[in-house]
Order: sequence, then C-alpha cells, then structure tokens
Amino acid sequence: MALDRVTGENSVLFIRAEQLFDLARRNSLWYLSYGIACCAVEGLMSAGGPRFDYDRFGIFHRGTPRQADVMIVAGTVNKKMAHSLRKLYDQMPEPKWVIAMGACASTGGPFREYPNVVLGVDKIVPVDIWVPGCPPRPESMQYAFMQLQEKIKARAGERLAARHG
Ligand code: SF4
Repeated sequence: MALDRVTGENSVLFIRAEQLFDLARRNSLWYLSYGIACCAVEGLMSAGGPRFDYDRFGIFHRGTPRQADVMIVAGTVNKKMAHSLRKLYDQMPEPKWVIAMGACASTGGPFREYPNVVLGVDKIVPVDIWVPGCPPRPESMQYAFMQLQEKIKARAGERLAARHG
C-alpha cells in the first residue's frame, strides 16, 4: 500500500492502519459460491438462510468474483470445470481465500473412482480450509469461517512481527 511509502513500514500510523484493515477483512468476508452439487443445496443454501444468520459475522454471499474475498467450492469438480474454477479464482482480488466444502471438493468423495473427477480442488486452487462431511452441516461452515478469521488474524500478526524485525 502507498501509506508505507509516506510514513515508513515501522511507523505507528502504518501499523495501526494495517491492523485496522485486517480487522475489517476478518469481519467482512464476502464469499463467492462455486456450488455445483448436493453440498451447495443441502449445506450452503441453508447456511445462507436466516436460521444460521451468517450476516452477524459479516459473511455475505457475493455473486461476482471481483468483489469476493472467499471462494467456497461445494460439490464434485470434474476436469471440464477446472478451467472455469481457476479463472474465477484468478478474477478475485488479493488477499483471497478458498474453502473446500465437503468430501467431494476435498478428495473427490464418493465419485473419486470416476476418471473425470478432480481428486481435490487443491489441484486447481490453493485451499485454506477443509470442511469434512457429506454434506457438511451449516454449523461446520460457520466453524470453517471462524477458523478462517483466526488464520487471517494470525497471518497479520506474523506480518507485523516480521516488520518489527
Ligand atoms: S460431499 Fe456428499 S453431499 Fe457433498 S457434493 Fe459430494 S456427494 Fe454431495
């Protein structure tokens, strides 16, 4: 960011600004849903409903990769889809994260013996959080987001500690 050029990387102003942006990032995770099978219907759609109320965490569905922070891959990815999945990921701005939801997205799940199935989306995009289950419960997704928030917080701490030397 440009502020470090003006104030220097170790200035209080720069560090406070970094911490503030980080807090905003953690509490405003807009997700792009790459929902392609039953996980998206059974787990993710109910996760987005009023019962689980993800909004209170600042977690919202966003229908465009250009304004999304997190990609949720929910379902069985086949090799034909790999290109479009990667393209959507590339269109997301940095910093960005990926959640692999369910057995299929994580490993191919019950379809892993089919030759057209990708055996885990980490073959296509870097995955930050894995959510087990077939399908995972909405509570599991809630926990995944909480883990992601912790991860973002930890990385910010490491980054600032490295700057302090
Ligand atoms: S993990 Fe289970 S529920 Fe999810 S997409 Fe695969 S088969 Fe469907």
